[in-house]
Amino acid sequence: MKTWQAVAVPVVIAFTLVALEIPRNDWASTAAASLSSGVAALSLMAWAAILSSRVTAVESVFGGLDRVYRAHKWMGIWALGFASFHLVFKADLEAWDTASIISLSSSTTRLVRQLSYVVLVFIVVLALNRKIPYNQWRWWHKLSGPLFLVVVAHWLSFASPIELNSPAGIWLVVVSALAIAAALYKLLFYPFLARHGEYEVTGVASSEGDAVQLSLTPVRNPVDFEPGQFGFLRMKEEGLREPHPFTIANGKAADGHVNFLIRNLGDYTRKLIGQVQVGMHTDLYAPYGRFKRPDNGAREIWIGSGVGISPFVAWLQDESASHFDRVTLFYFSRPGQEFPSAAILAEMAARCGAELVLISGRANRADFQERFAAIARECGPQSLSISFCGQKGLLEDVRRQMKELGIPGSCLQHELFEFR
Ligand SMILES: Cc1cc2nc3c(=O)[nH]c(=O)nc-3n(C[C@H](O)[C@H](O)[C@H](O)COP(=O)(O)OP(=O)(O)OC[C@H]3O[C@@H](n4cnc5c(N)ncnc54)[C@H](O)[C@@H]3O)c2cc1C
Repeated sequence: MKTWQAVAVPVVIAFTLVALEIPRNDWASTAAASLSSGVAALSLMAWAAILSSRVTAVESVFGGLDRVYRAHKWMGIWALGFASFHLVFKADLEAWDTASIISLSSSTTRLVRQLSYVVLVFIVVLALNRKIPYNQWRWWHKLSGPLFLVVVAHWLSFASPIELNSPAGIWLVVVSALAIAAALYKLLFYPFLARHGEYEVTGVASSEGDAVQLSLTPVRNPVDFEPGQFGFLRMKEEGLREPHPFTIANGKAADGHVNFLIRNLGDYTRKLIGQVQVGMHTDLYAPYGRFKRPDNGAREIWIGSGVGISPFVAWLQDESASHFDRVTLFYFSRPGQEFPSAAILAEMAARCGAELVLISGRANRADFQERFAAIARECGPQSLSISFCGQKGLLEDVRRQMKELGIPGSCLQHELFEFR
């Protein structure tokens, strides 16, 4: 499901169900639009909460957790838009038969109404503020669950033509109940109930303090995964307990071990690289993501930059896979910062028969453009399958080059590296 569809579906349902509750002659009124907008805002907030529960079925519908979080973000933004319309225009007409579902005093009802809007503004503005460091931001964002209850209280306490046992009422009950259950699960039970295994750190290979390869051996419940998927590492060490997503950088192994390539990209990763030691224990919540090697028989181009090389390292080490002769792997890195080293990567590629092209830094992209264009000419732009993992800027360059070569956008799969 695409992000726009995920936003459009609850909105269309909300507008349709509200239309069933009010006289046909009033459909074009601002009051009807305002009431529908209020129902749409609540529905979007509820779905945003449901999406954040990280349930496998939801991930499958969206094609990966990264897409789930993107839809979650846009649901919040559109919820604020609809709630603003609902705030500005009265959602009531004299002729409508209205009643509240629970009765509160008029001053409390008014307070809850104002609060519900302030709460939504608070959630969305905080969520979009990239200046707040992620480790503080996630605690603020957790407040969204309890604050959603204020919005539900507004719906229940405000007089409206929507009765509880009407289609619109049942819709709101169901989505609100699911959202509250999802928020409770994510905030309280996820650490215990979500799929996870316990591992011991059995190898730490570092690259001048800037990156580290961790090898983890299972102690309990090794996770099952497909090469290219990722997991949330939650170290069982004071000061390192914050869960962070990292791609599993190896194929399935008989002993269940997993590797991670972790680069210093901020506070937590710096601390982890500095403090991690053999013998430490960690939980791994996995598998997540749907970044899998295409199996459509096409000529494959893999493009990894920086730590974005991790899923391709996993694909190269997938012992159940074949046809690596169809693969060209472009590895973008800054000179001297290749991790794993160019030699190790070349050995991995040679072992399975894939072509490796190292592109050092941004300045040398002519190398990339020439080889990329040559492959497209060789096999025809329609028969390529391009997999990308790396920075947004490079992704835009790849997209531009694809357009110039007449390669359809549908030939590209990529993972989003941002969860907010
Ligand atoms: C699907 C996925 C796979 C990844 N795989 C790898 C990998 O294999 N190797 C690697 O080195 N890095 C990987 N990353 C990036 C890694 O998760 C971040 O670099 C790390 O979380 C940064 O944390 P920090 O505190 O060091 O930096 P900060 O400066 O706090 O964060 C930098 C950015 O990383 C993101 N981020 C930070 N904390 C979290 C969190 N707890 N959950 C989600 N996102 C967060 C935010 O977008 C933030 O703006 C991956 C990220 C994603 C989303």
